[in-house]
Amino acid sequence: MTQTNLKSDVLTKDEQYVWHSMKPYNPQATYVVEKSDGARIIDTDGVEYIDAMAGLWCVNVGYGRKELADAAHEQMMKNAYAPLSQGHLPAVELAEKLNDMLGGDYVIFFSNSGSEANETAFKIARQYHQQKGQSSRYKIVSRYRAYHGNSFGALAATGQAERKYKYEPLSPGFIHVAPPDQYREYESDTIAPLDLASVKAVDKTMTWELGDTIAAMILEPIITGGGVIMPPENYLKGIEAVCKKHGALMIVDEVICGFGRTGKPFGFMNYGVKPDIITMAKGITSAYLPLSATAVKREIYEAFTGSDAYGYFRHVNTFGGSPVACAVALKNIEILEQEALFERSKEVGAATLQSLQQELQHHSNVGDVRGKGLLIGIELVVDKVSKDPLPVEKVNTVIAKCKEQGVIIGKNGATVAGFNNVLTLSPPLNISKEDLERILEVVVDSINQL
Ligand code: PLP
Repeated sequence: MTQTNLKSDVLTKDEQYVWHSMKPYNPQATYVVEKSDGARIIDTDGVEYIDAMAGLWCVNVGYGRKELADAAHEQMMKNAYAPLSQGHLPAVELAEKLNDMLGGDYVIFFSNSGSEANETAFKIARQYHQQKGQSSRYKIVSRYRAYHGNSFGALAATGQAERKYKYEPLSPGFIHVAPPDQYREYESDTIAPLDLASVKAVDKTMTWELGDTIAAMILEPIITGGGVIMPPENYLKGIEAVCKKHGALMIVDEVICGFGRTGKPFGFMNYGVKPDIITMAKGITSAYLPLSATAVKREIYEAFTGSDAYGYFRHVNTFGGSPVACAVALKNIEILEQEALFERSKEVGAATLQSLQQELQHHSNVGDVRGKGLLIGIELVVDKVSKDPLPVEKVNTVIAKCKEQGVIIGKNGATVAGFNNVLTLSPPLNISKEDLERILEVVVDSINQL
């Protein structure tokens, strides 16, 4: 069979049998990955791409890491499975390691995906307040534009209306507030936490909703899939104070920002806060196996004393925290630390951001180039004065041009009320300088063709 036949054969079967996420089937835009190595993926036609998105913002240590395959193999042979209603060694070691990385005082609940980690956080928050005798608290506050997962609670927390359309009604009890928007409504980094308008808005919402009905607020340190939306420097501190004022728990969603993406082990560490609950997934295993975690402050965990028949956390999943996934996570974190990839993300990310800003700042369709670490967004606009988002069809032409030149980039998630105009870069943290330079060259060239 010729190469072309092989490709069309695979694509035909792909269309016939595989239901792809997030898009109608389009063979022109589809490639079927066969192999990968480092930051490169190779499709069934032998075409090689630089993956500037690390899959879905997740392959932090790059593809083809034998150490991770070996860790999985070794653990499978030793013990492939034990439920976490009991215990097993890799979960103990991983929980201890995560607690250390988080700065201590956390207990870890394992699941399989970011959505589940967030669902777990919501259930813990609601039950925690009940355990403390505050049964009026059930509302969860979150932000427009943020994505928190696909399940009924995590999607209810999500602030992207188009993602919910045709699936509603979702779980009740979720309230949305506007996120800070440093591009359109700049707030200086020197403004004190509680003086920020974006923080005051949350405070007012909690007041109007009645503070003692709020169970928690969930937020990413930087909104990622919603458009790489950077908070003002003191925003998280402000949210932490407002949550405390109203007695709500602060849940930080580190599903993308965690494990070095923003140049620190966890994104919140850029902003000097200590969240009550931290959720994580993706980079925890660099996506080599499904795993997620919900880290909970010990004092919250200790409220689940089981003093009444329903006083303990009655939440279980079969695969969450499997020994093999935990062993892979441990090895993945060892690689991240040994290869100093948190620091690399910070340094190489800052240099890349600066180059992109220099190259693109004069382009009339580039409104803003922003990010932290190897998390970068390029906001495309109709013009710099109106700041109206560039129509998605034009944004898609830039992405297609990059692909034609062998670079896979992303854009912010499902249409966000027409603000589907932010190109995203989130490559493996160990991507080579040459590959990064090539990404830069191709992205700038593709934007220049607008
Ligand atoms: N939270 C954030 C910030 C995410 O970006 C995602 C997925 O992209 C999730 C939660 C849900 O994670 P998963 O797709 O693993 O369920």
